[in-house]
Amino acid sequence: MTARPRTRRRRTAAPAAAEILKRLRDTYPDAQCALSHRNAFELLCATILSAQCTDARVNMVTPILFGRYPTPQALAAARPEDVERIIMSTGFFRNKTRSLIGMAQALVAEHGGEVPRTMEELRVLPGVGRKTANVILGNAFGINEGITVDTHVARLSKLLGLTRHEDPAKIEQDLMPLFPRDDWALLSHLLIFHGRQVCIARRPRCRDCVLADLCPSTQL
Ligand code: SF4
Repeated sequence: MTARPRTRRRRTAAPAAAEILKRLRDTYPDAQCALSHRNAFELLCATILSAQCTDARVNMVTPILFGRYPTPQALAAARPEDVERIIMSTGFFRNKTRSLIGMAQALVAEHGGEVPRTMEELRVLPGVGRKTANVILGNAFGINEGITVDTHVARLSKLLGLTRHEDPAKIEQDLMPLFPRDDWALLSHLLIFHGRQVCIARRPRCRDCVLADLCPSTQL
């Protein structure tokens, strides 16, 4: 006898997912990437800097960084100690400096000074993994290759019963079949907005939550 596929969770999660997306879209019509940037290169730098750091802090640092190093060519030729001084307040500044300069050097050496537009090319750049590549593809190029799973997206996906996993790669695989591809980048922004404003870690405001009747973790 052939084993029955385990589709029970998906069958229940899919209608809820559509309603979750609709309500969050209505609630946060201005949801978008919170990292200030004017082009793909700047977004790539900002996303590298955002590891273990708030977007607000990154946005305080990047005007200085981009003023001094406006192009991949300029950043590729930067002295590490100068970059470290600028980005110090974002934390892990030595590693981030290595990633920034290494990434810029790779752009110049291998991509003609342009940010590539494929997951395969992006994810092998220094300091860039799948999560960062998803941010760049979705927000700089409008290419929905995957879903960016940061701490808010991971936490809310679990609370909302959309995944049972902790690993971002597995969460992403659970989310992708539940939401229209065209909305993948937006979905991340919506969950991040909701995670910052209402479903706050350790003190979720379930009384103010538009998803309370859909949420298996509601405290009401
Ligand atoms: S009902 Fe509560 S736990 Fe569920 S998403 Fe809303 S704020 Fe978070």
